[in-house]
Amino acid sequence: MMIELKNITKTFYKNTSQVSALSNISLVVPKGKILGVIGASGAGKSTLIRCVNLLERPTSGEVFIGGRNLTSLKPAALAKARREIGMIFQHFNLLSSRTVAGNVAFPLELSNTPGDEIKKRVAELLELVGLGDKANEYPGNLSGGQKQRVAIARTLATNPKVLLCDEATSALDPATTRSILNLLKDINKRFQITILLITHEMNVVKAICDEVAVISEGRLIERGPVSDVFAYP
Ligand code: ADP
Ligand code: ADP
Repeated sequence: MMIELKNITKTFYKNTSQVSALSNISLVVPKGKILGVIGASGAGKSTLIRCVNLLERPTSGEVFIGGRNLTSLKPAALAKARREIGMIFQHFNLLSSRTVAGNVAFPLELSNTPGDEIKKRVAELLELVGLGDKANEYPGNLSGGQKQRVAIARTLATNPKVLLCDEATSALDPATTRSILNLLKDINKRFQITILLITHEMNVVKAICDEVAVISEGRLIERGPVSDVFAYP
């Protein structure tokens, strides 16, 4: 299994009250598959996806990526392991002061990749996402769909095995959503990248997911092939 969550529980403590955001969630995603997690606002989707790369530490439970237990790693090893987990967001999270190329180069600079290699890799990645002619633009001059393409190129720069998509198309119109989903599917097929995505939109799940998990009030209430779970009588 590429992604394996075992008995993940997350409780937030606020003053004297506590919120149980996730209750005992276990979930696997085989290599090369796309799993969609769907649920209403407040169901725990965002907390769940953030637990996969430990942006959020589960209160209890374990996270395995490619068989390795992330929850047991020391900070330095965890930082390294995280480079194998890409993530894209609803609001893109680009660096506005850097060009498109500068954004895509950023993770490579952090990992001390030689300059000539960065240049080659950045050009390749921008071609891949269809932005070969935008290298020197600033994010402020791009459409939402173009921004998400930059974010996808940036997250692919370090060759992740896993891609986490946190409401990645929720800020986009339907046609742009469709084109971004097609790009994600293409990347999934081409590089065998395992994708976990969260969304509140059934159409997103139907468009690209192999399987779907339904979460409600922090609990996993359904899991199966998209055609089964959405096959209402
Ligand atoms: P979703 O992504 O499905 O909308 P979330 O994971 O954001 O759901 O939230 C699940 C529950 O956890 C909600 O009740 C939310 O208020 C609570 N929650 C999320 N993050 C925090 C936090 N940092 N502190 C306290 N409560 C939180
Ligand atoms: P910024 O001004 O946004 O910081 P830089 O011009 O410093 O961007 O470029 C950052 C990185 O992006 C550099 O490592 C450079 O090799 C790469 N880069 C810049 N322009 C291009 C381009 N047109 N094609 C490919 N790589 C580029």
